[in-house]
Amino acid sequence: QWIYLNGEFVTKENAKVSVYDHGFLYGDGIFEGIRLYNGNIFKLREHLDRLYDSAKSIMLEIPLSYEEMQEAVAETLRKNNLKNGYIRLVVSRGPGDLGLDPRRSPKANVIIIAEQLAIYPEEAYVNGLKTISVSPRRNLPDALNPKIKSLNYLNNILVKIQSNLAGVGEAIMLNSQGYVAEGSSDNIFIIKRGVVFTPPCYCGALEGITRLAIIELCAKHGIPLKEEPFTLHDVYVADEVFFTGTAAEVIAVREVDGRTIGEGKAGPVTTRLLKEFRGIVELDGYK
Ligand code: PMP
Repeated sequence: QWIYLNGEFVTKENAKVSVYDHGFLYGDGIFEGIRLYNGNIFKLREHLDRLYDSAKSIMLEIPLSYEEMQEAVAETLRKNNLKNGYIRLVVSRGPGDLGLDPRRSPKANVIIIAEQLAIYPEEAYVNGLKTISVSPRRNLPDALNPKIKSLNYLNNILVKIQSNLAGVGEAIMLNSQGYVAEGSSDNIFIIKRGVVFTPPCYCGALEGITRLAIIELCAKHGIPLKEEPFTLHDVYVADEVFFTGTAAEVIAVREVDGRTIGEGKAGPVTTRLLKEFRGIVELDGYK
């Protein structure tokens, strides 16, 4: 496996950065997770847009132009001979001193890792996941704006720990006002009486690329969708619930906090959206 590290390809063992990297010391940096489907880099443009927007917002200068980054990703895939898999793109602030001041980290580290992906078994897409709501709260738009896909994932890790203890694979995070925000690494959707709902980003949801793809698919197929705040009550009484994410795609939820959702398996709208989504993954991207 070859890892892209600042313009060079190194082996996994040699893929190392400084302990003074502020990505390590402070979580100061940004990242993207991107899927590769049969040689098609799914929605690469959208992922790079989010990456460059995140970078601008935190005043992090990415030492590659947009086109160079696109080429670096494609080159990493060629080098690893990958046709299907997952790409992790990380830009950290780079090595500095022990203070917080980003001006002392003049050179960002750019890392691209591409590998096979172990996702949920196909059975989970049919039967749905069991999930719970958890106590860590998603940050609302502030200095740590949920739109910035930053390396600050401590809250998400706390969610993961709580999910592990409960024996579930994904969990529901609320924001400090009690509205549903998203999962630990997935966006959330609910369906009630044929209408699809997803929390707006101001509720603390990342502007997920898969989320956007679902919004677009709903529009294309005339499925009504509203971006609207909702609560756990709305989740409990929904006809269908599903998560979306680059790794998870569109995964149904069959139970939330002990309440069975709908028929206790993937519902018709979720199943349809998964099918439509899988229909576009090899088309809508960069080859
Ligand atoms: N929310 C969070 C917190 C995430 O980390 C992710 C995964 N990147 C998502 C949602 C889903 O976003 P996407 O569809 O772009 O993978």
